[in-house]
Amino acid sequence: MEDCLFCKIAAGEIPSKKLYEDDKVLVFHDIDPQAPFHILIIPKEHIQSAACINSENSGIVAYIFEIAAKIAKEQKLENGFRLVNNCGEQGGQTVNHLHFHMLAGRNLGWPPG
Ligand code: 5GP
Ligand code: ZN
Repeated sequence: MEDCLFCKIAAGEIPSKKLYEDDKVLVFHDIDPQAPFHILIIPKEHIQSAACINSENSGIVAYIFEIAAKIAKEQKLENGFRLVNNCGEQGGQTVNHLHFHMLAGRNLGWPPG
């Protein structure tokens, strides 16, 4: 996808602080962390948002949750974590490539602002 920031990060054209990578996903640290631990989990395939998930591509969402659980174990996030997906303008999405925020390391408020 041309001019997609996260496609460029996934392709290594824009540097990122990587935590995990395989053929399907990339996990890297958010540039503006909102918690002591704040990473982004993205599919390498360009999917615009959660609103574009369908029966053909939904497998990647389950895989992303599997990776999140693995990271939680590796990073010893025993006190819990939050997985967040912002979708669309009112949902607070600023980068139009599907991504899940994984936040941990402090008490996270609810409901979000
Ligand atoms: P959204 O607001 O779309 O849910 O989340 C986009 C996230 O991407 C934000 O938390 C923002 O800090 C992060 N971000 C934006 N540009 C970059 C970048 O160039 N590198 C990294 N690592 N994170 C970015
Ligand atoms: Zn993209």
